[in-house]
Amino acid sequence: MDGIRVKSLSKSTSTSHHSAIYPHPFQHTHVSPGYTISTPISCCGIGLHSGQYIHLKLLPAPAGTGILFRRTDLNNAPILARYDHVIDTTLSTVIACPNNPQIKIATIEHLMSALAGNQIDNIIIECDGPELPVLDGSAAKFDQLLQTAGRQTLLSIASTIKILEPVRVEYKDAFAELRPSVYKGLSLSLSIDFPASIIGQQQFSMQLTPQNFKKELANCRTFAFKDEIDSLHKMGLAKGGSLDNAIVVENNSILNPSGLRRRDEFVRHKMLDAIGDLSLVNSRIQGHFIGHKSGHTLNNMLLRKLMAKTECWRYISRKTKSFDSITMIPNLQKQEA
Ligand SMILES: [Zn+2]
Repeated sequence: MDGIRVKSLSKSTSTSHHSAIYPHPFQHTHVSPGYTISTPISCCGIGLHSGQYIHLKLLPAPAGTGILFRRTDLNNAPILARYDHVIDTTLSTVIACPNNPQIKIATIEHLMSALAGNQIDNIIIECDGPELPVLDGSAAKFDQLLQTAGRQTLLSIASTIKILEPVRVEYKDAFAELRPSVYKGLSLSLSIDFPASIIGQQQFSMQLTPQNFKKELANCRTFAFKDEIDSLHKMGLAKGGSLDNAIVVENNSILNPSGLRRRDEFVRHKMLDAIGDLSLVNSRIQGHFIGHKSGHTLNNMLLRKLMAKTECWRYISRKTKSFDSITMIPNLQKQEA
């Protein structure tokens, strides 16, 4: 009988059929273990908008924690980094305590991106001010901090969702979309189109891996237009902004004496932002992201729509407290094949 069964299996190209007969918790789901950092690590720097000097400390955390911020200047008030805790996306991504919007933390996207890039699923982030340090306007320092701290494998699997049907949000000619993908991770394609010819049309595509994140995106800086910065200054914002923490564009030139780090640094930074914003779904994503002229607002709208449309995705593994209580979602559908 076994011989017949094996023979019939050999005709099938579906790995899920194998899984149905030889169930193994990791075999058919392509799940990854969850990670945290190995040792605490800290840094400090200026907040872009407040101009305040901010201290940041990253601490290892057990499975099931997620990305948890704590405002040490506000009695360690916790703020879980999650799409539905986002209260503002106009200048940066801002999250707050669900029951107290005064307890907030701004400009989380570059650190969130470095965490997603390094596959850190669980961490406690202590911060003594209302926004994260902007550092050089990229995620390079955060990426470096995470690698210095080291990565620790947890006795759990990473929470992962798989996109089953396309979900799209639009605003004028901008859009952001998540589609099913055969790639067993997150891949991204992003395009931008600015009237300033120094930026113009740029397009970039990538599969998200720690290696690609470091090599292709981590040191790409945020950018702003000189006239916008002047207006922000008049409003008392961007107090910490300087040529040390952003690319500044005026007319068709770059004001930074050292110029660009890459010709297409602009679109790559937008992708860096998108990775940080998408990680607020609080799970890893198996799917393909496509964005055109998208930013923090569309990225957050996309996650809200995705989570509401439960038929368009499913968990292939859920966040758990320990290895003993791993929740494996039966996965015998054709999509996995
Ligand atoms: Zn950014």
